[in-house]
Amino acid sequence: MRIGYGCDTHRLTEGRKLILGGVEIDHHKGLLGHSDADALCHSVIDALFGAANLGDIGTHFPDTDPKYGGADSIGLLREAGRLIREAGYEIENIDTVIIAQRPKMAPHIRAMAENMAAALDIDSGKISVKAKTNEKMGFTGREEGIETRAVCLLV
Ligand code: MG
Repeated sequence: MRIGYGCDTHRLTEGRKLILGGVEIDHHKGLLGHSDADALCHSVIDALFGAANLGDIGTHFPDTDPKYGGADSIGLLREAGRLIREAGYEIENIDTVIIAQRPKMAPHIRAMAENMAAALDIDSGKISVKAKTNEKMGFTGREEGIETRAVCLLV
């Protein structure tokens, strides 16, 4: 068994879509990034690569490569899952946290888990998505950005 950890932050800005776990969330700001800036998928990808000691998201999907401009991160997650399996691992479970002052994530949690589970071809019961505010402290509390964290267990 191998444990992996990933974290990610993206800046919130006007004129961008807010996409987390492949769910487009209605909000007046979205996350800035080279890809679709889906910070939740990015954390999970880094946790998976970390557990398998296969480098990180930047190793496999460099943000300097125009190919990944506006990339659908669910597609990147699918490719990460394929690489993990190719290396001989199966995913036992994934646990994640979204840290955001706003908007409310609760209505979207189930869809996020289902999207990511489908991309990884695992049961959605193997992925936990949790969300919390940062009590208005720090960059997440000031709504300057959103932070995500993920751990996974590979067997
Ligand atoms: Mg990212």
